[in-house]
Amino acid sequence: MAAIKETTTLKITGLRHPVFKPSNLKVIAARRLKVPPSAIQSLKVLRRATDARQRRVDFVYTVLVQLHVAPRQTVIMLQQPGVTRYQEHQFCAPALSQSMLRPIIVGCGPAGLFAALTLVERGMRPIVFEQGERISERTRRVERFWRRGTFHPLSNVLFGEGGAGTFSDGKLTTRIKSPLKEKVLTTLIAYGAPEEIAYVARPHIGTDRLRSIIPAMVDDLQHKGVDFYFSTPVTDLEIQQGRIVSVIAHEKIPVQYVFWASGHSSRDSYRMLRMKGALFERKGFAIGLRIEHPQEFINQAIMKGKKNDPRVLPASYTLTYKDPASGRGVYSFCMCPGGKIIACADTSDGLWTNGMSTYQRQTPWANAALVVTVQPRDFMGSDPFSGIEFQTMLERQAYTFGGGGFKAPVQLAADFISDSPLINPCEHRACSYRPGITVADLRSLLPVWIRDPLQRALRAFDEKIPGFVSEGILVGIETRTSAPLRIVRDPVCFHALGIQGLIPIGEGSGYAGGIMSSAVDGIQAALAFDSGEV
Ligand SMILES: Cc1cc2nc3c(=O)[nH]c(=O)nc-3n(C[C@H](O)[C@H](O)[C@H](O)COP(=O)(O)OP(=O)(O)OC[C@H]3O[C@@H](n4cnc5c(N)ncnc54)[C@H](O)[C@@H]3O)c2cc1C
Repeated sequence: MAAIKETTTLKITGLRHPVFKPSNLKVIAARRLKVPPSAIQSLKVLRRATDARQRRVDFVYTVLVQLHVAPRQTVIMLQQPGVTRYQEHQFCAPALSQSMLRPIIVGCGPAGLFAALTLVERGMRPIVFEQGERISERTRRVERFWRRGTFHPLSNVLFGEGGAGTFSDGKLTTRIKSPLKEKVLTTLIAYGAPEEIAYVARPHIGTDRLRSIIPAMVDDLQHKGVDFYFSTPVTDLEIQQGRIVSVIAHEKIPVQYVFWASGHSSRDSYRMLRMKGALFERKGFAIGLRIEHPQEFINQAIMKGKKNDPRVLPASYTLTYKDPASGRGVYSFCMCPGGKIIACADTSDGLWTNGMSTYQRQTPWANAALVVTVQPRDFMGSDPFSGIEFQTMLERQAYTFGGGGFKAPVQLAADFISDSPLINPCEHRACSYRPGITVADLRSLLPVWIRDPLQRALRAFDEKIPGFVSEGILVGIETRTSAPLRIVRDPVCFHALGIQGLIPIGEGSGYAGGIMSSAVDGIQAALAFDSGEV
C-alpha cells in the first residue's frame, strides 16, 4: 500500500547564495531539506537580504516551500537547521452593523488610508477628511516651497493626500513584528509598488512611486464607497456626556466614531483634542542634525573593493553610540542613500529637515539624521506638551539661524566637533538642501546636553567610518523623529481615554512611528473596531 502523503508548507531561513552567480533556490532548499529538488512543488521568496560583510557578497534568503510528502519525512525535514512549519495568517473580522453612522477618518496618511481599507473590507463606507490637497496640487505647492520658500499651512511636505511620508524615501523598515506587515506590502504592490518589497530585507518605494501608488489607492477606495474630502480640516469636535456626537469640518457632521489619524505634526489637532478632554502622556523622542556626504565617499568607505558593484550600491549605514558621560543614545535615523535633504515646516517661522529619495536612489548624496535621545525627565514639570514646545523652540531658532526664507543653517562636521570658534565657509560644498543654506554655528543651536553627546558620537562614528567627519556637512535641525507625546488609549479597543468614540491611530497617537507601523496601527484599530463596544 502506498504511504499516505500530506501537503506541507515549510519556512526555511538562512539560505545563502553568491550574488554573482545565478541561483537555483530550489536546489539549495532541497539540499537543506535533504530531499530531491523534484519533491518541492513550489517555492516563494519571503525575504532576501544582502550580506556584503565578507569578501564574497551573498544573498541570504528566507523561503516558503510546499511539498507533498509522507508525514515521517516532514518530521525529518523539521529537524534541519532553519526549517519550521509555516502557518498562514488569516485576517478577518466580522462584518459591521450597517445601522450605525458612517465612521469618520481624520487624515489621509498611511494610518488613515489603511484603516479606511480595512473598514471597507468589513462592509463599512467611512468618510475621510484631509486638510491638505490631492498629490498633484500638493506636489506643485511643495516644489514652490523648496524653490522659493513659499509656505502653505495646510498643504505642504507634511499635510495632504498620502500624509507625511509622501515626500520621503518610502522606507518600509520597522521594528514591529506584526503579521499585518504582509497585508500592507501586498496592498502597496496591488496599487503599483515594486514586487520586491515583499521580500527584500530593507524595502523602500521612493517618493516618485509613492506619488502614483497613493492616488491609485485613494481612487480605488472611492470606487468602493469611501468618500474623501480634501482641503477639509476637522477643526472641532462636539462632545456630549463624554461622547463625540459630531465633528466640524466646514460644517457639522453627526458621528459616533472617529478614527483620528492626524500624524504627529498637526499641533492644532493635539491642542483641540486636549481641550475636548483627551488624555495625553509624555514619551521619549530624539533631536539632532542631519549629515550629508558624497554618496561616492559612503560607497568607498563601506563597500571598499565592491564600491563599483551596482548590485550592492548605493551603500547605506546604521550607526549607534551610547554616550558614557550622559547615558544618552545617539543613532543614525532615516538614512537616505542617493537622496536629498529636504526642508519641512508646519509654520511660517519654523524649520526642520528630513530625507527623501526616488526609487532609483540616484543623487550624488547620502544623508542621515544623527539624533540624541530625549526623555520626559529632561523637562521640568509634567506638562505632556513640553516636548512639543521644545521642538517648536528649536525649529524657530533653526529658521532664524538660517536667515529666513527656509534656508537651512549648515556647518562642516569637522567645525561642529572642534573647540575652535572658527567656522569655515561651506557654501562651496555641494549640498542637496533647497531653497538655500547659510553657514552658522550649529554648536549654539543645540542645547549643550544634546550638542555634547552628538559631538562625542561623531568622533566615534569617524572611527567606524574613517572620513565620516571630514567629508560630512551638518544641516539643522532634525526634530520630528517621532511624536513627543501619546494620546492615552485602551490597548484592546484603541478608544481614547477621556473621549468616547475617539480612536487615535498612527504616528500622531504616539503608538506608531514610520509608514509601516502607522499603516499596521490603522489596520489593527479597524480590525478591533466594534460598533457596539462603547
Ligand atoms: C519628509 C519625511 C520623510 C519620511 N520618510 C520616512 C520613510 O522613509 N519611512 C518611514 O517609515 N517613515 C518616514 N517618515 C515618517 C512617516 O511619514 C510617518 O511616520 C507616517 O506618515 C505617519 O503616518 P500617519 O498616517 O500616522 O500620519 P501622517 O502621514 O502624518 O498623516 C496625517 C494626515 O492627517 C492630516 N490631518 C492632520 N490634522 C488634520 C485635521 N484636523 N483635519 C484633517 N486632516 C488632518 C494631515 O494633513 C496628514 O495628511 C517620513 C516623514 C517625513 C516628514
